[in-house]
Amino acid sequence: MEKGISRRNFLTGALATAGVAAVAMTGCSPQTASEGGSSSAAAQSESVSLLTQTPAWLGEAPEIGEDEIVETKQTSLLIIGAGNAGMTAAATAADLGLDFIIAEKAGQVAKTRSWYGAVNIEECLEGGQEVDTIKLNNVLRQSFCGMNDMRVVRVWIDESAEMHTWMRSIMDQFGYDVNFDGDQGDGRGGVGIDMYVPPIQVNYVAREDCSEEHAEMARNELLEEYIGDKGYQVTYNHDLAKLVTDESGAVKGAIFSTGDGYV
Ligand SMILES: Cc1cc2nc3c(=O)[nH]c(=O)nc-3n(C[C@H](O)[C@H](O)[C@H](O)COP(=O)(O)OP(=O)(O)OC[C@H]3O[C@@H](n4cnc5c(N)ncnc54)[C@H](O)[C@@H]3O)c2cc1C
Repeated sequence: MEKGISRRNFLTGALATAGVAAVAMTGCSPQTASEGGSSSAAAQSESVSLLTQTPAWLGEAPEIGEDEIVETKQTSLLIIGAGNAGMTAAATAADLGLDFIIAEKAGQVAKTRSWYGAVNIEECLEGGQEVDTIKLNNVLRQSFCGMNDMRVVRVWIDESAEMHTWMRSIMDQFGYDVNFDGDQGDGRGGVGIDMYVPPIQVNYVAREDCSEEHAEMARNELLEEYIGDKGYQVTYNHDLAKLVTDESGAVKGAIFSTGDGYV
């Protein structure tokens, strides 16, 4: 255990949230709503049912012969995509000292801006601005015309305050102040109609003690340096071609297209 995060609950959480995909290489079988430990709210299972009825927009996975694989790598945890979720997963895995690979199709980490949303963080509660999480979940569901996966929103509602505390400590090390933006204007969210605008916005600004180099870096670039200091690096130019599964459907690996063939 480190900072309240165990390897076990990190891997479970990572599967739900990270990047394009985060795969614990011990394998993860596809779960039904009832197996997935959901809170079994009616709307939640309806949301899952709608999702499973949606045709696969990626189409068929390509056939790739073993003779086409030019290199094989072993790892305990595979994180696919060095975006917001992937870099957060990588930094957490680095904190835990896990054996992991983070693979990214592009030649750099994904861009990030200077804000993120976190629900009921300490500063918000201290300011007496507690977010109504049921209302928030319903408003988001309405925005997505009932087609979103409410389990994903629930993870954010339940866990983003913890994420914020963790992210704030990292940004602080790089010389940034992370601030809660409690002023939500006129509550119309920029769209001119009366709507619920929850106080969830957090922004960060470089302090005077932030080095020039770090002041010019985006959050994911800072996280890349953070994992680099712990001995890890992003594996670039690895474009996920297909996931490798066993007979039960459990994901055991992934095949990437690289400039030099399949890995
Ligand atoms: C214009 C714009 C402005 C936004 N502004 C904000 C903001 O101010 N605050 C905020 O909180 N959110 C903002 N968002 C939303 C935020 O960017 C996304 O919610 C967030 O990036 C999603 O994180 P992610 O990790 O799921 O995806 P991404 O950050 O998009 O990361 C996915 C990564 O996976 C990689 N990838 C994709 N396919 C493959 C593959 N086959 N193999 C390997 N790698 C692959 C991509 O290259 C990318 O690096 C904004 C979004 C947009 C488009």
